[in-house]
Amino acid sequence: MAYTKIICGKLYDGIQDALQENMEILINGKYIEAVGRNVEAPEGCEVIDLSHLTVTPGMIDAHVHASYFDWREIANDPIFYSDGMRCLAAAECARKALAGGFTTIRHIGWFQEDYSLDVKRAIDAGYIEGARMIAAPHFICAPGSHGDSTQKIATNPRLSRFLETHYPTMGSGAEFFRDAVRHEVKIGADFIKIMATGGFFTPNDSPEDKQLSDDELQAIIDTAHSLHTTVTAHAYTTELVTTLANMGIDGIEHASLIDEPTARLLEEKDVYVVPTFCPYDEIVLLDEEKLAQKSPEFQRKLRYYRDNLVRSREILKNSKIRLGYGTDLVVGYQNYECGREYSAWLRNGMDPFRTLKAATAVNAEILGLSDVLGTIEPGKLADIAAWPRDLLHDDKALLDCAFVMKEGRQSAVHSIISDYEE
Ligand SMILES: [Zn+2]
Repeated sequence: MAYTKIICGKLYDGIQDALQENMEILINGKYIEAVGRNVEAPEGCEVIDLSHLTVTPGMIDAHVHASYFDWREIANDPIFYSDGMRCLAAAECARKALAGGFTTIRHIGWFQEDYSLDVKRAIDAGYIEGARMIAAPHFICAPGSHGDSTQKIATNPRLSRFLETHYPTMGSGAEFFRDAVRHEVKIGADFIKIMATGGFFTPNDSPEDKQLSDDELQAIIDTAHSLHTTVTAHAYTTELVTTLANMGIDGIEHASLIDEPTARLLEEKDVYVVPTFCPYDEIVLLDEEKLAQKSPEFQRKLRYYRDNLVRSREILKNSKIRLGYGTDLVVGYQNYECGREYSAWLRNGMDPFRTLKAATAVNAEILGLSDVLGTIEPGKLADIAAWPRDLLHDDKALLDCAFVMKEGRQSAVHSIISDYEE
């Protein structure tokens, strides 16, 4: 096996809330063999000197929609991309995420057939280079829901109905959803994603809608669990999040409109939350220029719910809920700009170590990969990134990657921030 030793400037290991000095990492093939000061290297060992950088585990983004090249094209969905183009887009997102220091992304579905499982398999087999993908290709959802892209063409009932029938996990009734979950697991979905309520991004629904009935939700959760698959749901409000937590769901995406008692319930039941601060940051921190990039409906909803969004963000921030790190970038920034959420967390006053832990150890747990990922310690896969900026004070730090390695193999890097000349 080929040995590599990395000399770290500073090291965040995903375990301690500290940046350790004078640390070294010994890698044997795909795996980390030793971590410490003055680690003994076998003869012929390659040495990588990162003494000018802060070294971390390869970062993990738990909420990525990988299925398009450029967010400006989403307005033309669902009819703009061919299947081939969509598959290429997912592959390109994974490649660029890796180049930005994110060695794993959780692809959380798209409105059309997206071939994310094919991209995942091609990456795992080494045919193409990219971040490791953990994927739920299809939203489990009802017609007219946040997961239904044909909302946009609802004025053409025949066409929208035709396209609906081509989305295998959209339907109604507990039996339908049991079947849908079984098929998702059969084709290789790593987890199940429910679109349980309306959203901000879709034009004709509300974040307060309940788009699936209790028996449908329970059928989805129970079927997935009986197949040893976890379930997360797009959900915002106190009422729906409480219902889902009591039904035994594993995670919630967003939870952006919850109250204090709901936060306590999530803590008690150890339901993780991926709060995705990014898409709501412009309204919470009032950035009118970025807000203007969103559709009129998106802006109207954000303004309407602003007070509630601000209040719930404080509740999430001050809670002990297991918070994961996920960007959910569909407007204003590209889907592979995974470091954006770091900026959002720090600008909202989150502790940088909690943020770093969310993007490493906590996310590895959420993805069910904590035995191999999320920390730098012997026995883990050698997924490693390194950064020139001050991680504790510079909110742009994770947009400026200078080194990345996945399973012991170094890849080309790209600094996202250089695209913006910030
Ligand atoms: Zn999303």
